[in-house]
Amino acid sequence: MWEPMSAERAAVKTDQDLVNNILKLKKERKALILAHNYQRPEVQDLADYVDDSVGLAKRAVEEPDAEVVVHCSVDFMAETAVILNPEKKVLMPSPGARCPMAAMLPAFQIHLWKEKYPGIPIVLYVNTHAETKAECDVCCTSANAVKVVESLDSDTVLFGPDANLAWYVQQKTGKKTIPIPERGFCQTHVLFLKEDILLLKEENPSAEVIAHPECSPEVQKVADFVGSTTQMCTHATNSAASKFIVATEMGILHRLKRENPKKTFIPAYEGAWCVNMKLNTLQRIYLALKEDRYKVEVPRDIARKAKLPLERMFEMMNIDLDAK
Ligand code: SF4
Repeated sequence: MWEPMSAERAAVKTDQDLVNNILKLKKERKALILAHNYQRPEVQDLADYVDDSVGLAKRAVEEPDAEVVVHCSVDFMAETAVILNPEKKVLMPSPGARCPMAAMLPAFQIHLWKEKYPGIPIVLYVNTHAETKAECDVCCTSANAVKVVESLDSDTVLFGPDANLAWYVQQKTGKKTIPIPERGFCQTHVLFLKEDILLLKEENPSAEVIAHPECSPEVQKVADFVGSTTQMCTHATNSAASKFIVATEMGILHRLKRENPKKTFIPAYEGAWCVNMKLNTLQRIYLALKEDRYKVEVPRDIARKAKLPLERMFEMMNIDLDAK
């Protein structure tokens, strides 16, 4: 709802004013600010931690003294923080920051897939809503999907909602991954084209192509490295290459450049912005802390059920969430 700007808000003018006010409120409220790798540069610079979805889920648990978590990401990641940290208040600065891919697999569809493939385990990417997670056997992220599927005692799995990640996991594990829904996708990662990348590679023959597994199989096939956002950052740091063609959301370039100031990063497509991720601004973070906007809630029974597949995923990664 639109509200007139108060005199106090109008007085907060520059980015530095905002940052100072946010830091003051953060201290008063014992808050933790988490930012996904795709957030705006100024939001990444402000955050306590910048990470991928599983990294952020862990960070919130590892900070027992934090009473408030400001989650600068999209809906399903903030929900995961609520599920794993029921005692903390989780705030989303922009309630409209919703992942369209997560919306492609509503919970009722899981029942239909279960009827069609009885007995086949269901592995869901964390990019799903809490009600949908509550219906699956185990969750995964792009960083651990291969390990999770390998750990299952089944040669076939139902895997959703990203069909490209399902393809990637099938290549790596040799197991059959049946995508649910049949063509779930990330609207940002489908913007990358193999042709653009091959052209950039021709112009920059020494560059390594690094890509996210949400990209199409054609793009993954021309990449030198495929991994989650944090794995892409680690790879760029450890690789002997000094130039990289980057096929994931543009926000990651800020972290890549910050961590590797002497290396060059070329976007595989300059229009690859996730508008949902970019909804979080300094102004909105300030208001989130000042006015408790917007509290993320997950019904208790759903949270209890959705926690089980998340805990199974952490168990498979040998991460003890209780060891804070
Ligand atoms: S980048 Fe893709 S998967 Fe990530 S939040 Fe945006 S639409 Fe969803």
